[in-house]
Amino acid sequence: MRYAILSDVHSNLEALEVVLKDILARRPEAILCLGDFVGYGPDPNGVVEELRPHVAGAVAGNHDLAALSELDIGTFNPLAAAAILWTRDHLSEQVRAYLQSLPRQMTPDGFLAVHGSVRDPVEEYIFDPETAEASFQASPFRLCVVGHTHVPAVFVLDGGRVTAAPFPPDRPLQLDEGRRYILNGGSVGQPRDGDPRAAYLWFDGEAQVATLIRLEYQLEQTQKKMMEVGLPPMLAERLAFGR
Ligand code: ZN
Repeated sequence: MRYAILSDVHSNLEALEVVLKDILARRPEAILCLGDFVGYGPDPNGVVEELRPHVAGAVAGNHDLAALSELDIGTFNPLAAAAILWTRDHLSEQVRAYLQSLPRQMTPDGFLAVHGSVRDPVEEYIFDPETAEASFQASPFRLCVVGHTHVPAVFVLDGGRVTAAPFPPDRPLQLDEGRRYILNGGSVGQPRDGDPRAAYLWFDGEAQVATLIRLEYQLEQTQKKMMEVGLPPMLAERLAFGR
């Protein structure tokens, strides 16, 4: 199967529309979402309504659960918490019910999919090989796809050692037999690797090839909406820097 795997849309409808158009033109057999549909951005309902009909499977992210008041925002930074409080006031009943229905992990066709990590599907960030190792030990998966950090990444377990590998856009990554992988396709709606373009992951299960896709979108439009609805200006500004 050919999968489009996207994550961390964060209520950014302009980024989602560009990504969805690109995905649909490639005709994947399944589209998966690794959580954080909402939070930070100005279009929580629009994003869920746009994405939901296309998604074959999705898991909940920490911002989704925080918006449902199922996760304490005490650990969120003040700007993220302010955006969650705004989101709580604006979620429609249907969108709330959809987010409530999301599982914490899924296993599409033999691989594992979570928002954060295998050890802690909702809250743990995998930024380095040491943290990745704990997830490799937690479950015998061959491949696990994650989101949450908003930073594209590849972690490889080979002969008992975990290393981080580069993951440049548009360069197909062949998964080797005998190795195990954790892949992060970055964030659609709030990239944090210094590249403001929307990111998602393309995965060909038959060929065992993963490709990172980056796409420009009208981020000024999103920033304008964020200011209009009264979200913290800093959250709008960071979209331009990809931080
Ligand atoms: Zn996120």
